[in-house]
Amino acid sequence: MDLTTAEWHERARIAPLPTKPFIDGAFMDPISEETFDCVFPADGRVIAKVASCDGRDVDAAVRSARAAFESGVWSRMSPLDRRKILLRFSELLLEHRAELALLETLNVGKPITNALNGDIPSAASCIAWYAEAIDKVYGEVAATPSDVTTMIVREPVGVVAAVVPWNYPLSMAAWKLGPALATGNSVILKPAEQSPFSALRIGELAIEAGLPRGVLNIVPGLGHIAGKALGLHMDVDCIGFTGSTEVGGYFMQYSGQSNMKRIGLELGGKSPQVVLADCEDLDQAAKSIAAGIFSNAGQVCNAGSRLVVEDKIKDKLLEKVIAHATALKPGDPLDPSTKLGSIVTQEQLTRVLGYIDAGRDAGASIVAGGNQALKESGGYFVEPTVFDAVDNSMKIAQEEIFGPVLSTITVKNFDDAMTVANDSTYGLTASVWTGSLKNAHRAAQAIRAGVVWVNCFDRGQFNAPFGGFKQSGFGRDKSLHAMDKYTDLKAVWFAH
Ligand code: NAP
Ligand code: MG
Repeated sequence: MDLTTAEWHERARIAPLPTKPFIDGAFMDPISEETFDCVFPADGRVIAKVASCDGRDVDAAVRSARAAFESGVWSRMSPLDRRKILLRFSELLLEHRAELALLETLNVGKPITNALNGDIPSAASCIAWYAEAIDKVYGEVAATPSDVTTMIVREPVGVVAAVVPWNYPLSMAAWKLGPALATGNSVILKPAEQSPFSALRIGELAIEAGLPRGVLNIVPGLGHIAGKALGLHMDVDCIGFTGSTEVGGYFMQYSGQSNMKRIGLELGGKSPQVVLADCEDLDQAAKSIAAGIFSNAGQVCNAGSRLVVEDKIKDKLLEKVIAHATALKPGDPLDPSTKLGSIVTQEQLTRVLGYIDAGRDAGASIVAGGNQALKESGGYFVEPTVFDAVDNSMKIAQEEIFGPVLSTITVKNFDDAMTVANDSTYGLTASVWTGSLKNAHRAAQAIRAGVVWVNCFDRGQFNAPFGGFKQSGFGRDKSLHAMDKYTDLKAVWFAH
């Protein structure tokens, strides 16, 4: 896909932008007459007005999903047929890669090259991975006396609502859709208000792939209206949520206030990148640390936003990290050479700049970046920013910034590093850089997080689970473990 910047801009100008809910196999006129604005964050222009679904639209989606589930058209379809349809769905995502990538960039300002080579193929791989898994998971037969046989089977929970964020719109949706659809559920997807386009478009692609109507419904809308309606709905059996810890807490309340629906929560993080004095390759560590915080402009749940480094190597390492930070220039996300795009909204830009001020006010020192960039574009760009002399109790070390801002915390030794790494309400991911096998094992054990990377960062495959400890959530996305969230266990006793 070798388009020039001008060609991408031309495509952006004429791209059809879906704006209506996708219910029961087709775009519908919403019952709610409200809309919300979608803004291209690289220039601040309103590019579409999208239906803001309310409780009535959500109810229509739930009724369609329930009817499809009860009919058995998907839930009881033979696993091999489900597999075939999901594999075709995955292929269609790839065939529409350029179109979907453009929708992501227009919604969230991420570099088109990343959307094209990262987000969309990754979403397609996720669907394919779960499609392939469908006929490769088995139930159990318990050891019992000979007058009885006990089968332990997993059944789909029924109607699943997937409520997802804007940072990797399609990819985060796929992490829910893959396991939920593969296990036979019907799904209602609520994309973030900042990023509805790709979610709505794949409704049509799912139908084209052969997914029966009603099995996948998509309701664009605001969190406190459409998201809340899903959370409180008496006929939604399960919520797969990715987003902030605050909203994750609301979903637990919604569940308690309604029908005890099952919930999986993938929430925020404040991931430490720990570099011990025995690290063997500071160049490699510095490169990885910079990528760990500046990818996707730092708008990543597992962004490695805390650099926890031993004092003996701090200056040497920081110099290298700063070199990466200053070399990385924000640019037009529709330019294929751009590596750092914009922040998603004016609101997030203000939030990120507010944190930079808070760090400065608390006495930390800015050693790279620190400012808004490309103001003349009308868009929301921030320079890659590095703080030194951060104390782990400061706001910039405790709270999730969700922007390209790294806080450097200097520690005295291994134990100190582990204490700081764990001194967080979050526990999503962590990395440790060390040349010592012993320290690698000790750190991997000591750090309370759902994923620990040793001498690397952000490695992942669909066969390894992803998710958090502590207030980073519970339940896991990816891997066969994710299928547990969308199924219930049933024990069946056959007396002979
Ligand atoms: P968010 O504000 O929590 O929103 C996530 C989703 O919840 C959106 O669809 C949102 O709709 C909806 N929502 C908001 N308020 C709601 C409410 N009162 N009731 C029901 N639903 C509601 O998160 P975000 O700003 O989109 O994304 C950033 C956050 O997501 C960060 O904290 C990040 O760490 C986390 N995240 C975690 C992971 C992970 O895998 N652990 C991955 C990506 C992001 P609206 O868009 O309309 O508000
Ligand atoms: Mg939000």
